[in-house]
Amino acid sequence: MLIYLDGKYLPSEEAKISVFDHGLLYGDGVFEGIRCYNGYVFKLDEHLERLYDSAKSLMLKIPIQIDELRQAVLETLRRNELREGYIRLIVTRGIGDLGLDPDKCRNPSIIIIADKIALYPQNYYEDGLEIVTVSVRRNYPEAINPRIKSLNYLNNILAKIEAKQSGVVEALMLNNDGYVVECSGDNIFLVKNEIIVTPPPYIGILDGVTRNCVITLAHEAGFQVKERVFTRHDIYIADECFLTGTAAEVIPVVKLDQRVIGNGEPGIVTQKLIAAFRHFANNFGTPIFPEGV
Ligand code: PMP
Repeated sequence: MLIYLDGKYLPSEEAKISVFDHGLLYGDGVFEGIRCYNGYVFKLDEHLERLYDSAKSLMLKIPIQIDELRQAVLETLRRNELREGYIRLIVTRGIGDLGLDPDKCRNPSIIIIADKIALYPQNYYEDGLEIVTVSVRRNYPEAINPRIKSLNYLNNILAKIEAKQSGVVEALMLNNDGYVVECSGDNIFLVKNEIIVTPPPYIGILDGVTRNCVITLAHEAGFQVKERVFTRHDIYIADECFLTGTAAEVIPVVKLDQRVIGNGEPGIVTQKLIAAFRHFANNFGTPIFPEGV
């Protein structure tokens, strides 16, 4: 496997960063998880934009232009001969001293890892997931804004630990006001009377790339989509619920806090959106191997 590290393509054993990198010492950095399907990178420009936006918010200057980074992502996939896979794009603050001061870190590091994807078990999609609400609240936007996809993921990890302790794989997180925001690594939607509802980004969620694609696909399929705040109660009494994310794609939720949602099976709207998503992902996007090459 070849890893892109600061302009070079290195075998994985040689792709190393310093123990003084503030990405490691403080989680000071940003990242993206990106998928490719059938030779197309899914929403590459949206992921790159979010990466640069996250970095801007942290006053972290990514040392190369977005076009160069786009080419590096595609080249990493080509060198690893991947048409289906998962890309992890990371920018760390770089090497500093043991203090917090980011100004001491003069050279941010860029890492691109492209690998095969470990897919979720098929029964998650056929039977739907059971999830629980956890006590860990999503980061308060004035503390660490959830819209920044930073290397500091402890908030989400604590939520995941709590979900696993309850015997389920995903955690529903609330914000400080008790409204539903998102899951530890996925955005959330409910469906009630054929209207699709999802929380707006300003209440403290990651503005998901999959989320935004699914909103567009839902509109194209003729559904009404509303971005509004809601509580757990609204999910308990919803007809359907589903999650979206780069790894999960679109995944049905059939139980929350031991309340059965709808009839307890993945709903019609969710199934339509799963099909629309798969069709889109396999047929559109940035080609990895341009025609004729
Ligand atoms: N929320 C959180 C907290 C996430 O980490 C992610 C990404 N795994 C998502 C939502 C989904 O975002 P995307 O569709 O861009 O992967």
